[in-house]
Amino acid sequence: MSTELSHASTNAQLFERAQKVIPGGVNSPVRAFRAVGGTPRFIKSGRGPYIVDAEGKRYVDYIGSWGPMILGHGHPAVLEAVQKAALDGFSFGAPTEREIELAEEILSLVPSMDQVRLVSSGTEAAMSALRLARGATGRSKIVKFEGCYHGHADALLVKAGSGLATFGHPTSAGVPPEVVQHTLVLEYNNVEQIEEAFALHGPGIACVMIEPIAGNMNFVRASVPFMKRIRELCTQHGALFVFDEVMTGFRVALGSAQSLYAKAIPGFEPDISVFGKVIGGGMPLAAFGAKRAVMQQLAPLGPVYQAGTLSGNPVATACGLATLREIRKPGFFEALSASTRSLVDGLVAASKAAGVPMVGDCEGGMFGFFFADQLPQNYNAVIATDKERFNRFFHAMLDRGVYFAPALYEAGFVSAAHSPADIAATCAAAAESLRG
Ligand SMILES: *Cc1c(COP(=O)(O)O)cnc(C)c1O
Repeated sequence: MSTELSHASTNAQLFERAQKVIPGGVNSPVRAFRAVGGTPRFIKSGRGPYIVDAEGKRYVDYIGSWGPMILGHGHPAVLEAVQKAALDGFSFGAPTEREIELAEEILSLVPSMDQVRLVSSGTEAAMSALRLARGATGRSKIVKFEGCYHGHADALLVKAGSGLATFGHPTSAGVPPEVVQHTLVLEYNNVEQIEEAFALHGPGIACVMIEPIAGNMNFVRASVPFMKRIRELCTQHGALFVFDEVMTGFRVALGSAQSLYAKAIPGFEPDISVFGKVIGGGMPLAAFGAKRAVMQQLAPLGPVYQAGTLSGNPVATACGLATLREIRKPGFFEALSASTRSLVDGLVAASKAAGVPMVGDCEGGMFGFFFADQLPQNYNAVIATDKERFNRFFHAMLDRGVYFAPALYEAGFVSAAHSPADIAATCAAAAESLRG
């Protein structure tokens, strides 16, 4: 088997080989295409808005590594920065100047934070933010919302219990019920439930954690009244409001999703913010940050322990920094938003022409579409949309060289490299797929 030349293998052959040595053949479950069926594509290379699979077939890529590739693949400035950094050394386990530069860059774009700490994955950042919130408040209870994903830390792999007085149940084997006994799971966009939760548990709640635009429910916005009420309740009860912007950060706007809510709600700020994906530009890099008083609770200054061998890695920080320097150029987000909007409008128009009910929404370079009559507002509404039709559409598009996320509860991403011609071709493929 090892004598087989990999470039001669089909996707199916690679998948078979992968399944022998890697559980399910993949290193992250959604890649296995379980939700949509069929054979995952093994990707050989990416350039601009395109990726090419093991069989040499090219796709317009609307996943972009699940968000990081906001400039497209192989952006020259990023590539150069990474190559240069690699020549200077991969990792030292000692501080480097580039970590300061990246921290300064991030902080200059997100005024709710005075300090950040760099880590290597969104999971790690969200887990650390949670520990920090608990450490800073001296409280144990946390609130999250059904359908929001914050990585796979034990305390966050939880689904709702049977009512507000009861805490959650683990959604994964290997998570003891005691570990999630402090996690309360509420319905997204439900103001009454969050009010009731604070009325019942207020003094014990360390934090409320939210995806401000939930990309792990495809694309569901937290309504402004919902966001405003959570902010008020957190302040009133001394709980911290944690924005998980791993997906939305530097993706929906230069100032991230919090800048959009700050426009709608005067003075609005989260207490702790979590970033990942775009800030690494495709390298393993994530961060969490807050005001100085909260961040100084972290080791080595404070009692909340947090560490990482590869944290602030020199090659990853070079990649992230080069990426952020591109996206802050004037006009970047205006152009990205316009292309994303044209994609969503084109998809919706194509379905309308085919007599298929579809709705879509987008912000910056992130989008979602649903086979439904109206935009879902919470997880139950998302999973009630037409899954059979989504799966057929996904495969029809894949056959036509368009790579959307392989599950109806995942968001899509447009990069600055997607041209009007790429988007027009995608919409034409959608028109054909929906007719078929
Ligand atoms: C992707 C994601 C995470 C987890 O990040 P990883 O780097 O995959 O560990 C956490 N929160 C949100 C909102 C995400 O989209």
